[in-house]
Amino acid sequence: MILNDTHQASLLSWVASANGENSEFPIQNLPYAAYRAKDSIDAHQIGVAIGEHILPVTRLLGLSDLSTMEREAATACNSPALNPLMALGPRHWRALRQALSRGLRHGSPHQSYLRPALVPIAEAEFAVPARIGDFTDMYTSLDHALNVGRLLRPDNPLMPNFKWLPCGYHARVSSIGVSGQCFLRPKGQILPPGESIPIVTATRRLDYELELAIWIGTGNSLGTPVGLDQASQHVFGLGLLNDWSARDIQAWEYQPLGPLLSKNFATTVSPWVVTMEALEPFRSAWHRDLANPQPISYLESTQNREHGAVDIGLEAWLHTDSMIRAGQPPHLLSKTNFRHNYWTIAQMIAHHTINGCNLCAGDLIGSGTQSGPGAGEFGALIEITQGGKRPVTLPGGEERSFLADGDTVILRARAEREGFRSIGFGDCAGTVLPARV
Ligand code: CA
Repeated sequence: MILNDTHQASLLSWVASANGENSEFPIQNLPYAAYRAKDSIDAHQIGVAIGEHILPVTRLLGLSDLSTMEREAATACNSPALNPLMALGPRHWRALRQALSRGLRHGSPHQSYLRPALVPIAEAEFAVPARIGDFTDMYTSLDHALNVGRLLRPDNPLMPNFKWLPCGYHARVSSIGVSGQCFLRPKGQILPPGESIPIVTATRRLDYELELAIWIGTGNSLGTPVGLDQASQHVFGLGLLNDWSARDIQAWEYQPLGPLLSKNFATTVSPWVVTMEALEPFRSAWHRDLANPQPISYLESTQNREHGAVDIGLEAWLHTDSMIRAGQPPHLLSKTNFRHNYWTIAQMIAHHTINGCNLCAGDLIGSGTQSGPGAGEFGALIEITQGGKRPVTLPGGEERSFLADGDTVILRARAEREGFRSIGFGDCAGTVLPARV
């Protein structure tokens, strides 16, 4: 993919709120979501964000100057979920972005036709953006794997496979919710320290995981692997994902087959899907330190070396119930960047399909918890508090080793590069409710 006029930093929209320096959704972004009017029983529909507003994409169908491909792509948005558009593939995705950019840019002759269809984001509610068939959660940040491994297995922090393949497991779809999700503190078996008989209790070590949501566009047929350099053609876009985790349940259950009840009670995704085309200016070179094994051939290419990483700043914020009641703003827990990841998105896709596994439009892949090499670049509380040993003190004096009932965690992301308009992802927020008694 190459840069085009839709990425130009000088481009402005006739929607004034898109042009502010801090707007997450300038005309260079154009992310998609499934939305409807707040508190309505309408079917969800596909919208594109522009500043503080949403344009229903099917509004484009009233324009007479659409190309065939633009019309097909806009027609695919006549759906409560992004799957039909995702399945069309990159040429249609590019065409739709062109049509939206043309229609929404300053001076467009279509302004008077499109403007009445705008809906304020503040007056909308959202759904999970696609019908998800399968959800795979990866484990691909070396810094996160080392930080957590040192806590769980001090004598053997990193499994020998980690440096050779992007690790992952099949996760749960039914409990995935969109930002704003509230969920009950889960119960399960835990083995208290020093005991030999497990007890059943509500988790005492509830955590979040700061991840990117990788949304699959076009799938591959069963038996046909996706090559590394073709992988980006299969990715529709990225959002944020919080893989809520009960660490005490996880520690007892995760060997030999991996996490199950410690993860499958809730996962929260952001409503907006930022397209890979919008992220093109933020691509960066990917390096594999010579001290580590170099990738096996199916995970190695010049293209992946030159453009495989994506520079996306990631943040996790905590807003406790008492902070909300006191009118205090959320507290920044940590920030890091996706460019640190040990494996690229293309390597995850190539590895996932090397055995012929078929990915489908709307499949979701979690990037794995994102932690970086620097101080404070931690993607989960278990790392920040050293397994609960060093609680965080919040501005109001509260302490947290792990999450308390009433806590809201908000994930945020922003891509920035000199010479380009920075783009944001919108919030991915979720709230912990007390366990069922
Ligand atoms: Ca995870």
